[in-house]
Amino acid sequence: MKYLTLLLLPTVLLFAADTSPATPAKAAPKYQEGSCCDKATKRGDKCNHPCCVKAAKVGKVCDHCNEPVKK
Ligand SMILES: [Zn+2]
Ligand SMILES: [Zn+2]
Repeated sequence: MKYLTLLLLPTVLLFAADTSPATPAKAAPKYQEGSCCDKATKRGDKCNHPCCVKAAKVGKVCDHCNEPVKK
């Protein structure tokens, strides 16, 4: 009986790890609704504004064209 428990324990732990909430996916760049980048993305394209391209290169969203949402 004890051996069985030892054998089952790692399985249970793995199962628990599998079902635990996954780490939240990295948030996708958030474009402001209606911005040049938003429109381009909806067209399946990328915004080609120099300022936006520059921001995208460093993994950011151009905050000149996509003003942060005010809370
Ligand atoms: Zn843009
Ligand atoms: Zn821009």
